[in-house]
Amino acid sequence: MGRPNPMSGLALPGCERPSEDPSGSKDIYVFDFDMLDLSPSLQKALKQGGFSEPTPIQGKAIPLALEGHDILGLAQTGTGKTLAFGLPLIEALLAQPGKPHPKSAKALILAPTRELVGQIADSLRPLMDGTKLRITTVVGGQSIGRQMRALANGTDILVATPGRLIDLMERRAVDLGHTRNLVLDEADQMLDLGFIHALRKIAPALGTPRQTMLFSATMPKQMEELSRGYLTDPRRIQVAPPGKAADKVTQSLHFVEKADKPRKLRDILQPDDLTLVFARTKHGAEKLMKGLVADGYKAASIHGNKSQGQRDRALKAFRAGEVNVLVATDVAARGIDIPGVGYVINYDLPDVAENYVHRIGRTARAGREGEAIALVCAEEMDLLKQIEKTM
Ligand code: ADP
Ligand code: MG
Repeated sequence: MGRPNPMSGLALPGCERPSEDPSGSKDIYVFDFDMLDLSPSLQKALKQGGFSEPTPIQGKAIPLALEGHDILGLAQTGTGKTLAFGLPLIEALLAQPGKPHPKSAKALILAPTRELVGQIADSLRPLMDGTKLRITTVVGGQSIGRQMRALANGTDILVATPGRLIDLMERRAVDLGHTRNLVLDEADQMLDLGFIHALRKIAPALGTPRQTMLFSATMPKQMEELSRGYLTDPRRIQVAPPGKAADKVTQSLHFVEKADKPRKLRDILQPDDLTLVFARTKHGAEKLMKGLVADGYKAASIHGNKSQGQRDRALKAFRAGEVNVLVATDVAARGIDIPGVGYVINYDLPDVAENYVHRIGRTARAGREGEAIALVCAEEMDLLKQIEKTM
């Protein structure tokens, strides 16, 4: 038996008939996983995972993806985009006979951070229970030798950060020539400056024809234009305007003097809730965390100056509630799914306006409620204007 669907508030208004799709789209619109005619192992895994109804993005994207179309899927944070690409991907792989070739992957999922790669694999793994499919992750900050060995016999799904994947390609530890499925999670970021060079090296190495799926909660126009270079006759699925915040997040802001931010933060922090605090720089995040710990808060930090072990431990302790304040840079802005996060505090506003949407999307996930509070000082008024424009 499934748990009550926490997303039912979000799910499929007027979903009794496909024709009542609020967007007026003529595409198939599925409101029950049973309607998808998925493989028995997947159906069973969905039931065991407590997933009963598809979310709107799943209901729209999965049928089209199962038909083999390329997909550009845009939906708010926390609305189940991982399964929107994961289910059709696994279904396609189940239908393909034969083991993966040595050093190859049948499908490739790219994501911007190591933590998100791990999380995607953790969400898909239970759906592959009882099948022969394998999933492998490769990310920076971990032994490359071990990853080379893990890839030696090939894998079905490879989830990777682009930098490490290129290292492995250059060492001839992986051959993407047999890879016929590509997913870009957080697609607009994967197309942006930090990753586009890597993507330009990776995409041409893949086999053809391939099915490509791009998903994000934000999609600036210029990124969508770039995305066309990677998609063939795609179906564009948009559940909400790109950049729209999650439905149940309450947003507020405090105008404060810069020097008064530490005190204001301590005023706001609730002792029992999981709170994610975003700072602009690694150094700033570390200093803030240390100050909180000195004042008796149970806080940890996650940013690019920490070792992978430290990053993993901080996230794990936060997930488990052993620390209830996690101070982070934008490395934790995208994708991370920790249901218990009740508050997101923007101690500093993000430099990139889209990241505000992603940051506050770490709360109010899967139909839950959450609060987002920003501390804004005079120097940040331009950033605030940019954010207001984006949203
Ligand atoms: P997004 O990528 O859109 O931000 P995720 O894929 O991380 O969202 O999913 C957010 C949460 O919703 C996860 O905890 C996931 O397990 C849950 N979820 C996904 N699909 C469903 C569903 N159909 N019913 C209930 N919960 C779901
Ligand atoms: Mg996601």
